[in-house]
Amino acid sequence: MTTLQSTAKKKKHKCFFGIKTDRQVDGDRMNNSFQKRVRDAGGKAAAIDACMQCGTCSGGCPNADKMDLPPRSLVLMIQRGEWEAVIKSNTLWLCSSCHTCTSRCPRGVRPSEVIEAVKTIAIQEGIQNNSTRFNQIFVEQIQKRGILFEPELMYAYGGIEALLQQAPLGIQLALKGKLSPLPHKVKDPKTFQTGIANLRATPTGKAQTP
Ligand code: SF4
Ligand code: SF4
Repeated sequence: MTTLQSTAKKKKHKCFFGIKTDRQVDGDRMNNSFQKRVRDAGGKAAAIDACMQCGTCSGGCPNADKMDLPPRSLVLMIQRGEWEAVIKSNTLWLCSSCHTCTSRCPRGVRPSEVIEAVKTIAIQEGIQNNSTRFNQIFVEQIQKRGILFEPELMYAYGGIEALLQQAPLGIQLALKGKLSPLPHKVKDPKTFQTGIANLRATPTGKAQTP
């Protein structure tokens, strides 16, 4: 066999009926233990192994162009058990939970729920970045009074510099009645704080159904 023939044969294996290998649903590479872990972390309705790599989810995702693993690729990586790439992916933090992917997926994979579950696991595994820091500060602020006070959040996250930078926008919003210049609280902050603390104590951080 000539070199040319052998290269052509290799190319044929890389592209089967026009499906690129990075889209190939390869049953023998399915990693069920990773899928189970995702389901246990809150994605129990997600049919990860039913994904046929059609790409409808990524096609409709408003943030896909910024993601290193758009939803289709993320699901494929989970199927294959490439866990490190999955929990280090910026997709977890760029997903805005709009659920477009889940509503359009023809196979019931529910990518947005998969992403939420993987995010929980990533936090449990100690992944830290600006998004996890923001999430942490956001929850702490909400826990205080039950209602977010945006200038306080801005200060806690970005310091005085961020507060001053956003001040002109804040003033405009306050003048239009869209932002209160003073903090508000729920009627019974103590009960609210207990509820949040109980929720955080559950293994998945999600509310339990009675
Ligand atoms: S839309 Fe559903 S089936 Fe298609 S690639 Fe995305 S997750 Fe897989
Ligand atoms: S839920 Fe997340 S992954 Fe799905 S379409 Fe919206 S931003 Fe994209």
